[in-house]
Amino acid sequence: MSKPNPLLSGMAGRCPNCGEGHLFDGFLKVAQTCEACGYDLSKADSGDGPAVFVIMIAGFIVAFAALFTEFTIHPPIWVHLVIWLPMTLVVCLGLLRPFKGAMLAAQFMNKASEARHD
Ligand SMILES: [Zn+2]
Repeated sequence: MSKPNPLLSGMAGRCPNCGEGHLFDGFLKVAQTCEACGYDLSKADSGDGPAVFVIMIAGFIVAFAALFTEFTIHPPIWVHLVIWLPMTLVVCLGLLRPFKGAMLAAQFMNKASEARHD
């Protein structure tokens, strides 16, 4: 059986080595080892990489949606606050885990020293 695509496995929150075990132990905490294949995930560290991408993408989505709403509907400011503040939170939290998984999988794919299996 062929190995799964590590990037897709990482984005799905699965082990980039086997695609079966969980990559995360909690919402964003990386598991120590894969429970399916025993791969050591403790050295994986994505740093601030996922947050940077999420900030840029969420900022683009929310800022342009808010500008579009303002220029087309002209709602009062409280409507903007009620819509766009929760939307920012939802978009950021929704994107953070897949992006962190993708960054960890990219370390695995490129055999980065922090993620290398000894
Ligand atoms: Zn695994």
